[in-house]
Amino acid sequence: MITMTNLITFEKNVINSFKKVKTDIVKIWERLDSKTKEHEDIKNRVNELEQMQTVLVQNINFLRDAMPKNRIIANKDSGTVHRENCFFAKKINEKNREYFNTLEEIRGLDLKKCTCMST
Ligand SMILES: [Zn+2]
Repeated sequence: MITMTNLITFEKNVINSFKKVKTDIVKIWERLDSKTKEHEDIKNRVNELEQMQTVLVQNINFLRDAMPKNRIIANKDSGTVHRENCFFAKKINEKNREYFNTLEEIRGLDLKKCTCMST
């Protein structure tokens, strides 16, 4: 049986329930908002790191290009091998030069090693 007291209690309960729902919604919204800010901060940090990585890669490439190349040069005329930075290597005529990148490549070949090869 519906009484006036029951109706008043029911109304209070409904109002309280909505208040609780509203409080919960506000809490959830605040949490979402802070997550969105965290997400934004992380995105910004990732962007910064990507820019730093780009600069680092550019610097590494610059340094690699600036590194003195020290290939091995064989004098096809004399059969002597030198490091590219050797004083004698610089005097070898271009047509008599044969270039190698590693000692492995000249192993077994009948070549005399200049003293520059022992350092
Ligand atoms: Zn040499």
